[in-house]
Amino acid sequence: MAYDPNNIFAKILRGEIPCSMVYEDDHTLAFHDINPQTAVHVLVIPKGPYQSWDDFSTNANDVEIAALIRAVGKIARELGVAEEGYRVLSNIGEFGGQEVPHLHIHLFGGQKLGRMIKPA
Ligand code: AMP
Repeated sequence: MAYDPNNIFAKILRGEIPCSMVYEDDHTLAFHDINPQTAVHVLVIPKGPYQSWDDFSTNANDVEIAALIRAVGKIARELGVAEEGYRVLSNIGEFGGQEVPHLHIHLFGGQKLGRMIKPA
């Protein structure tokens, strides 16, 4: 399946809809989730057109991959959640529960997070 350039995060990247930005570099953008699940809930995305972690880990170059991974750590430190701990998560595809088809890393923190996965 081809990347859908009309997904909501592609529109954010093009500046067509606003976001509450927390970080940007040449390869990565991060913004607050519009419907936060925890005290801190940020989405970290690559600027390139990657649908998912599966697509990104296959097709992104090493610079893009390093940029995303380093950005997640940097953002956590800048938001002040690194010392007490936080969680990163990416939903991939239908079984993973992915809703927006542009890779995004959820960064949750600012509180105790409890069980990793709640039974459905
Ligand atoms: P996922 O289910 O992993 O695809 O997560 C999609 C996430 O995107 C959800 O947590 C939504 O709340 C979030 N989201 C959807 N639209 C926006 C938006 N315009 N700005 C920020 N976050 C959004």
